[in-house]
Amino acid sequence: MENDKISLVTEDGLRVDGRKLDELRPVKIEVGVLANADGSAFIQQGKSKLLVAVYGPRELHPRHLALPDKALIRCRYHMAPFSVEERKSPAPSRREIELSKIIREALEPAILVDRFPRTSIDIFIEVLEADGGTRCAAVTAASVALAHAGIPMRDLVAACAVGKVDGKIVVDLCDAEDKYGEVDMPVAYMPNKKVVTLLQMDGILTREEFDEAFKKAISACEKIYEFQLNALKKHLSIIEEVKEEESNG
Ligand code: UDP
Repeated sequence: MENDKISLVTEDGLRVDGRKLDELRPVKIEVGVLANADGSAFIQQGKSKLLVAVYGPRELHPRHLALPDKALIRCRYHMAPFSVEERKSPAPSRREIELSKIIREALEPAILVDRFPRTSIDIFIEVLEADGGTRCAAVTAASVALAHAGIPMRDLVAACAVGKVDGKIVVDLCDAEDKYGEVDMPVAYMPNKKVVTLLQMDGILTREEFDEAFKKAISACEKIYEFQLNALKKHLSIIEEVKEEESNG
């Protein structure tokens, strides 16, 4: 029934959480949050919170999976049982298997895999709290964690979903917008190489709407890229400070 429809955008163009149509949720990225991983990052985007650990390049087990000319990238996207309102089974769901694959495919073009034949690079993503956009936040944080692990890359990969809600193109959908909106379109992008490494679409857009949404997605990825760079720079400056303190005794 039309009257029962949930309104997601006000007449003033404000969204359920008070954001403007083009506005990202607050983004916080921290680098080097896990002592036992080669590279790690934490991301909070709105209410979504994820932790990423990267290992490698390292010897690959089982060995028969080794690729003679490049590193094998393995990726596991996992949602903690407490990350969503209704407890999620800890066993891997079909959705998690699909997301692990598309996140790996979104990251691989950025990694210089041919420098490390016969090794593996393992990426573990734990969703601690989910409120929409977790695949994109996973790509964003994993790319930072790969850089933190010192893995040579062509570029960082930044990701953000755009979509259509109440007939309007919006940026960085939260869970309610994802669930009750018309379209969800996650995009991952290498800002310096200007290459799109992931583009999915759930729903239907006209050609004009797609063009508008795509442009907004690229601009959102460029903003996310600034957060990635700043997080890496901040981490490096902390390391420099510690080194300086140590050398000063
Ligand atoms: N979600 C959930 N339970 C699940 C899977 C997803 O509540 O088992 C929610 C969660 O908030 C997630 C959102 O649905 O972020 C959107 O999921 P989608 O599959 O579109 O992926 P995402 O937008 O997180 O990349």
